[in-house]
Amino acid sequence: MKVHLSTATLTRILTAATLCGILAACVEAELEYNDPYPANFVYQQVATKHALRSALESPGIYCMIYAVNNVYHFDSNDGHNDTDNMLSITGGKPYSSAGCGFIVGMTVKTDMRTGNQQRVAYERVCPYCDTYDKITKPLEFKEKGSQQVVCRRCHRIYDLETQGVAINGEGNIRLYKDRVAYDGTNNLRIYK
Ligand SMILES: [Zn+2]
Repeated sequence: MKVHLSTATLTRILTAATLCGILAACVEAELEYNDPYPANFVYQQVATKHALRSALESPGIYCMIYAVNNVYHFDSNDGHNDTDNMLSITGGKPYSSAGCGFIVGMTVKTDMRTGNQQRVAYERVCPYCDTYDKITKPLEFKEKGSQQVVCRRCHRIYDLETQGVAINGEGNIRLYKDRVAYDGTNNLRIYK
């Protein structure tokens, strides 16, 4: 059976298909970046912080970013630690997170969609303990060199390489994920 479609009909079908594609991409991004908090972290001196810089540039290295008494801490999974005084940071902006800071890094695994290794950022809070009990507990690296983090309270382990999914425990949960922008030299931004 031959089907004849007018140009107008074809245009309508193509437009609908394009809109569906855009919508699907939006829904996918919405699902991927699932942080319920108004995350914001801006830092403009990456080059001076070994732990942070290597996490942004070396696949498999991840760095915890958190603040204690106006001091930023940068602790990487390969054992480097740096600090910076929040109050003396040039261009520093208010820092906001779920309360425990962020985890940032670059995956060893390549992204299925882009074929590239992906810079990722997550809230450093256990999403299970956060939503279930309203108790925030900071995540820690499972051990030195690990690309997994653990919650000492519920003992869940999350895999930073695979979108932060929990690899144990009940429920299908994963870390709160944020967007990350890095210009390759000094400027980092983590945002919702
Ligand atoms: Zn937990």
